[in-house]
Amino acid sequence: MLIKNDEPACAQDMASALFGVDGVTVTEVEREPGGRLTVWARVTRPAACPRCGTAAGRVHEYVVTRPRDARACGQDVDFRLVKRRMECADAACPRATFTEWVPQVPPRCTITRRLLEHAGAEVADRGITPAEAARDAGISWPSVHGAFTQAADQVLDDSPAPVAHLGIDEHRRGRPRWRTDDLTGEYVRLADRWHVCFYDLGGQQGMLGQVEGRTSDDTAYWLAGATPAWRDAVQVVAIDMCTIFLSAVRRMLPRAQVAVDLFHVVQLAVKTVGDVRRRAIREKYGRRGKASDPEYGIKHLLERNLENISPDQFGKIIETLDASAEGQQIAITWIAKEKLRHALKLRARVTGSTPCERPVRDRLFTFYDWCAAHEDIPELLTLANTISRWENEIVTAVITGVTNATAESLNRLAKLEARHAYGFRNPANQRRRVRIACTRGTRRPPARTASATRRVIKRKHHPG
Ligand SMILES: [Zn+2]
Repeated sequence: MLIKNDEPACAQDMASALFGVDGVTVTEVEREPGGRLTVWARVTRPAACPRCGTAAGRVHEYVVTRPRDARACGQDVDFRLVKRRMECADAACPRATFTEWVPQVPPRCTITRRLLEHAGAEVADRGITPAEAARDAGISWPSVHGAFTQAADQVLDDSPAPVAHLGIDEHRRGRPRWRTDDLTGEYVRLADRWHVCFYDLGGQQGMLGQVEGRTSDDTAYWLAGATPAWRDAVQVVAIDMCTIFLSAVRRMLPRAQVAVDLFHVVQLAVKTVGDVRRRAIREKYGRRGKASDPEYGIKHLLERNLENISPDQFGKIIETLDASAEGQQIAITWIAKEKLRHALKLRARVTGSTPCERPVRDRLFTFYDWCAAHEDIPELLTLANTISRWENEIVTAVITGVTNATAESLNRLAKLEARHAYGFRNPANQRRRVRIACTRGTRRPPARTASATRRVIKRKHHPG
């Protein structure tokens, strides 16, 4: 027994201050053999009738409640709160009796507010699931989820501040569902659900919002919900090479420039090299490639950037591809990829100075010229067609230097959140959890480091 009921008042005051529940005085603290603390306390806050406001009269009875409370100094606590049921001093009041209460434990609540706030903050700030927070706090999932929802709705502003650079990206919500058609025996898609997300690329706001579905109308719907002033403030929109987003942006943000993410442009070119390599190998050997084929041995070298290839590796590529007509087709596509990258290299992040439009278009023209000179390679023509369709957006990306990298990294967080939850059944819950995860970095306070212990040494005065 640590503190007894008959201890002097100062000991009870110290224990109450440590316990930290306003309006409550700790009267007794016991430690169980297993290390659990049992804290007995009584309400000392003056009580008034909730119906008429008259101060309480006589004590009707005493009740002991056991609200669940947060750990104290790392120890589990059994909280025993003694409340008085009082009689209303006004004899005419229809409410004859009432029970006193404190803000930490409102009437009819069996969990202290601070435990709920702690559990809600664990989900919102530390990114653990409500199920995990509920296990840790020893309360139910709905209680934690309710606390998290309250905490999240306070910090998530539905009307974001204006952004200059807007990013748009999508991710799948769960997995697609299929069923077998009874007549044809073929698979028919039942549901394939997506979320389109909007990101602040230049500022600190992270994810701005999400919308269910991934049609042009869905994307335009979210943009239509913003104020005209917000829409006018958007200067550049970064998207993947996706016509759905392009048409939505053209419709709702006619003044904004559109930039495609250059990563996806290079990715498309690298994929084309792979497509030609696979087709050429099939034509040369009459089968799919295997590890002993020389073309197979350089497949990863072909995916690398030219500047990251050593002279020996370069020699190996030329030697392998020069040996046959099929190999030369691969080499031509590989050169086309590098010609395309040559145009993209004019961006300020590489050169250190803002590029002009003319040289970018000139280099892209050199790329088209190369593709046209080798029109016998169908994949190369497809690539050139795609690039020319998106030429204006590519040039904007090179000139402005706006990329969708922030959106892609936050999109990864959004997908991770769904995996932590083993998928969401409720889309509104998913949007809230994802948005909290994708704005967490902007809310995080600066890291606190433990201050070094300073040893105080009693200095002796040495005369002389
Ligand atoms: Zn009353």
